[in-house]
Amino acid sequence: MAEPAASQERVLVIGGGWAGISAAVELSRQGVPVTLLEAARQLGGRARCVAFDHQRVDNGQHLMVGAYTAMLRLLEEIGVTEEAAFLRQPLELHMRALRQPELRLRARNLPAPFHLAMGLATARGLSPRDRLQLMRFSRRLLANKIQLEQDITVQALLLGERQGVRVTRALWEPLCLAALNTGIAEASALLFLEVLQRTFSGEASRSDLLIPRQDLGVLLPEPAMDYIERHRGRVELNRRIESLQIDAEGCQGVTWRSGHMAARKIILAAHPVMCRRLLSGHSALQSIAEQLGQLRQEPITTIYLRYPDDVDLGSPMQGLQDGLGQWIFDRRIAGHPGLIAVVISGRGEHLQMDNPALGGHICMELARLHPDWPAPLAIRVLREKRATFAACADVARLRPGPVTPVPGLFLAGDFTDTGLPATLEGAVISGQRAAAAALS
Ligand SMILES: Cc1cc2nc3c(=O)[nH]c(=O)nc-3n(C[C@H](O)[C@H](O)[C@H](O)COP(=O)(O)OP(=O)(O)OC[C@H]3O[C@@H](n4cnc5c(N)ncnc54)[C@H](O)[C@@H]3O)c2cc1C
Repeated sequence: MAEPAASQERVLVIGGGWAGISAAVELSRQGVPVTLLEAARQLGGRARCVAFDHQRVDNGQHLMVGAYTAMLRLLEEIGVTEEAAFLRQPLELHMRALRQPELRLRARNLPAPFHLAMGLATARGLSPRDRLQLMRFSRRLLANKIQLEQDITVQALLLGERQGVRVTRALWEPLCLAALNTGIAEASALLFLEVLQRTFSGEASRSDLLIPRQDLGVLLPEPAMDYIERHRGRVELNRRIESLQIDAEGCQGVTWRSGHMAARKIILAAHPVMCRRLLSGHSALQSIAEQLGQLRQEPITTIYLRYPDDVDLGSPMQGLQDGLGQWIFDRRIAGHPGLIAVVISGRGEHLQMDNPALGGHICMELARLHPDWPAPLAIRVLREKRATFAACADVARLRPGPVTPVPGLFLAGDFTDTGLPATLEGAVISGQRAAAAALS
């Protein structure tokens, strides 16, 4: 255990998603006692377990990359080794299609940046012109030559970088939706460039895909809870905080339906919609509440299909260029042979379909790609309506930092100004920053 910090004051963390867990672990690591209050019956927030067909699965399929270094360090701190947590494999994008040629791009086993350069040079499914434009763009990106004075949309960025229609449709649109959960016509070029830089510059291993070997709802929450409790902390589930008690001196505590808890230091790590509700009653926090009110929320839909155990996608993940489904995952590696997850980020016509119609449509798309597969035994559609904030151009002005005008009150969450889109890595970084601010 680390040396106890100078301040032994107990810190309250509200919200047990990855941001709140990260803050609580960091404080525990520094010897500060924490109480983590979570409204739900389980930790995990937007990366939690749900039941499907007698098994536990994640509420949505997540994908991580080697550049998620803060997340890997957090897992290591609580005793979860990377080998136990993930299958690591070099980036491979296999963009399948129902009606068009496929696109296939594989990072090579070479030191950076040759792993990417070689991967682009040998990509299949692109014209020589598209390939050249793509290589030119990546060279400029890695040499840090793309400097934007102000934020623009990803679409404007791609036009400026002379990316053709084919490469935009088959590669950039799906990558932007996957990384920012926002379409290229609105998405922030600054955030997209940051993701690309973090993933493709530096060591080649940063662009590796990390495919979870367990459901995420188990991977972090259980060992984290254990870690916090071993470090004099407490985790209280089913604790939905209804108000923050704040006076002229700063934070005084929180209340819930049947009780309250005093605290002079609070890290609020709830979903931004809930943060806005809790902040809006306090005049000093009004402007942050208004900022959060303008953060639009975007959905992610995951369709789980249970097939017989021997149904195999042939790789852990594939893209789909021209279907409703955007990414297809084989959950075999997470101990669910025969379980296929199809992900649809953002908005689209799937939002107008009811669950049986959407499930049936996805089933048909999979049958066209894999005519040899039998019909699925069970289907479940999971819709997360407020999966992430819309990462639109200029969204930075709506993202608050960890420090608030109220002494003792700090903010954490993927929506804070981490410089990253709403991701697990961003959530972890935000928790660590809030913990550091609470200690300083
Ligand atoms: C379907 C889906 C797919 C995704 N895919 C990816 C991906 O592939 N890669 C990636 O990196 N990211 C992905 N994300 C985003 C990622 O899950 C989020 O960025 C991250 O989980 C956010 O964590 P957080 O702690 O900031 O917020 P949350 O997870 O929302 O945590 C907030 C917590 O606060 C609790 N809470 C709320 N109100 C109160 C209250 N009043 N009192 C006490 N507790 C309260 C909530 O119950 C919750 O546990 C995905 C998200 C979804 C939904």
